[in-house]
Amino acid sequence: MKRIGVLTSGGDAPGMNAAIRAVVRTAVYKDMQVYGIRRGFKGLIKGEIDQMDVKSVGEILHRGGTILNTARSELFKTEEGLKKAINVLNVFGIEGLVVIGGDGSFRGALDLCERGFPVVAIPGTIDNDIACTEQTIGFDTAVNTVLEAINKIRDTVTSHERTNIIEVMGRHAGDIAIYTAIAGGAEGILIPEMPLDIDKLCKRIIEGRNRGKSSSIIILAEGAGKAVELEKIIEEKTGMETRATVLGYIQRGGSPTAADIILASRMGYHAVELLENDIGNRVVAIRRNQIVDYDIKEALDMPKEFNQDLYNLALVLSI
Ligand code: ATP
Repeated sequence: MKRIGVLTSGGDAPGMNAAIRAVVRTAVYKDMQVYGIRRGFKGLIKGEIDQMDVKSVGEILHRGGTILNTARSELFKTEEGLKKAINVLNVFGIEGLVVIGGDGSFRGALDLCERGFPVVAIPGTIDNDIACTEQTIGFDTAVNTVLEAINKIRDTVTSHERTNIIEVMGRHAGDIAIYTAIAGGAEGILIPEMPLDIDKLCKRIIEGRNRGKSSSIIILAEGAGKAVELEKIIEEKTGMETRATVLGYIQRGGSPTAADIILASRMGYHAVELLENDIGNRVVAIRRNQIVDYDIKEALDMPKEFNQDLYNLALVLSI
C-alpha cells in the first residue's frame, strides 16, 4: 500500500496522539502517503480528510486527547453509512486504514474489513477492557492520574478520620480500580467482575479502625455501583463519617505517561508495517512486552480474562 488513512474513534485516551504521530511518521519514513480523518467514522462519512506530514504531528506527544478529534456515529453502523464511508475512502484513493479506539471502534473496523476494505485497529481506551491485549493505550496514564487523586484525597480523609469512596471509570472491567487500589493502598475495592458484599466491606472498615487506622479509602469501579449511593449505606452500617468522590473525566485527560507514549509508538509503527505489506483485518496488541497482531473477529470474540491474582493481592494488602 502507498496511501493510508488514520482516525481516532470512541472515547479519547491519553497516548492517542503518540499513536497518530507514529502512524504518520512511519508512513512518511516508508514513502507512503498518509491522510488524517477527523471525528472518527462520522468525519469519514463526511469526507473530513486532510493529508498529513511529519510537521502536522509535531509537538503533540505530550498532549492528552486526540488532535484528530473523536466522535460516535450511529449512521456508520448502518449499511448506508458503511457504503458512504467506503466510497469516500475510494474517492481519496486510500487503500488501508488505521483505526485507534475501543471495542466499539473495532466492530466498525471489522464491518469495513468484511466489505473488503483493509483496516488495522489499535486499542486506545483508558478502561483496559480489550481482551486480546495486556494493555491499552491510555490505561497507564489514567491509573497514574487516579493515583494522584487518591493521594490528595487521602490527606483530607486522614485529617478528618473519614471513609471516602472514590468512583473510578470501568463499566465492564475493574482494571483501573484494581491497579489504583494496589498503588494507592486502598482499604477496599469494588469492581463489576466480583459480587458486591457490603457487609464484608463494612466489617473490614470497622476492623481497620479498631486496629488504629485513621482513614479508609474504598475504590469503586463505576460498573459496580454509584459512590453517592454507597456513601449513605456505608455510613449507616459503620457509623463512621463517609464521603463520596466521583473522579469522572479528569481520568481521561492529561499528558500521557512515558509507558503510554512508548506503547502507542510501538503499536502505530506496527500498524503501518502491516498495511505496507497489504495486511489488513488485524488488531495490534501487546503480550509479554511483544507487539503482536490478531484477526479482528477473533480478537473481538476473545473473553476478557479477569486478573484474579491482582485482585487477590489488592484484597490481601488492604487489610
Ligand atoms: P470506548 O471504549 O472508549 O468507549 P469505543 O470505540 O468502544 O471506545 P464506541 O462508542 O462503542 O466507543 O464506538 C465508537 C464508534 O464505533 C461508534 O460511534 C460507531 O460509529 C462504531 N461502532 C460501535 N459499535 C459498532 C458496531 N457494533 N458495528 C459497527 N460500528 C460500530
